[in-house]
Amino acid sequence: MASKHTVHMNQGQGETSYAHNSTIQNAEQNKMKPLIEAAILDLGSNNNTLLPTKMVIADLGCSSGPNALVLVSIAVKAIHSYCIQFQRPPPEVCVLLNDLPDNDFNTVVKSLVKLHSNDPVVVTGVSSGSFYERLFTSGSLHLVCSSNSLHWLSKAPEVLTSNQISAYGMDEYARRESLPMVLEAYGQQFRKDFTLFLELRAKELVPGGRMVVSLPGRRSDELASKFSHIWEAIAQILRVMASEGVISKLKFESFYVPMYAPSDEELREIIQEEGSFSISEMRVHDLTSGGDSTLIIPSRFITLLRAVFEPIIVQHFGNVMDEFVRTAEQRWSQPGSLQEEISGNPRVMLAVSLAKA
Ligand code: SAH
Repeated sequence: MASKHTVHMNQGQGETSYAHNSTIQNAEQNKMKPLIEAAILDLGSNNNTLLPTKMVIADLGCSSGPNALVLVSIAVKAIHSYCIQFQRPPPEVCVLLNDLPDNDFNTVVKSLVKLHSNDPVVVTGVSSGSFYERLFTSGSLHLVCSSNSLHWLSKAPEVLTSNQISAYGMDEYARRESLPMVLEAYGQQFRKDFTLFLELRAKELVPGGRMVVSLPGRRSDELASKFSHIWEAIAQILRVMASEGVISKLKFESFYVPMYAPSDEELREIIQEEGSFSISEMRVHDLTSGGDSTLIIPSRFITLLRAVFEPIIVQHFGNVMDEFVRTAEQRWSQPGSLQEEISGNPRVMLAVSLAKA
């Protein structure tokens, strides 16, 4: 399954759109603010040079809705504060937002006018394509940001798809047996993809250029004994649907979500092995700490799942979303059951600030 064609969030501004269901991700973006501000300061003080007179900043995996502009707005504000503090004329800034071609770029483009300015000059544009391919000309970027996107892989691991090894089989025993191999295959795919991502961005960044990215992960001391909770929850809902005959079991067994949550240690190792970047800072924190308490209301949580996973589910199973919602509602119909499940599965975010060596 080529993730390129299926990985996009629910479009538009409706109730189940990503635009309306991304407050958790927004809390994570705001936590990146100090890292982005420090990166701008560093760019200005690098080799005792001042900020360049023209700067290009990009957000990769911007999606649509309010979050699309958050990271680049933080960066533009940080650049302007830097210039006020050091009494420098502001640079001309070009802001570029990237996502896959199926992203709702119509909404993104309309919102970009908010950033556009003649004095100081801020121009904007979009770049459609995979961040696992070249997106920009070499040596053209000063700052790359990305939030909540790099856990999406370029594809599900081929060793599983071509050998028809199911990621979430119907049979519990078989599932447990194959889990170590499935997790290993996903880990390897992430390593390959993230290494490529670093190589490509290293080409596109200017010398001394910076990158600040944040993605869901897990703590190094936590055993990689299961997939992330959200993914697991989706698989369990779909498994119930398959056992009730709502979707075919065969289809269920060939469903893969191209997503992986690395540990901080894994991430550090890949960055060091690839070698183009030094790590300025890495932060690990629990996702729930900035959490949105309304999410423990099952209907809200299910809408959030739809905002992110509906396109990939519909692409594989057809339009089964009414049944999906009904099954999910049943799963969390006991008062407190969702809360219990969420608090039993704390999720971690990894935020890392990198400098091109
Ligand atoms: N940055 C936003 C959106 C995160 S949603 C936020 O923090 O809220 C994840 C986004 O990554 C989706 O819009 C998805 O389409 C995009 N994405 C996934 N794989 C991608 C790839 N290979 N190249 C570019 N964008 C990708």
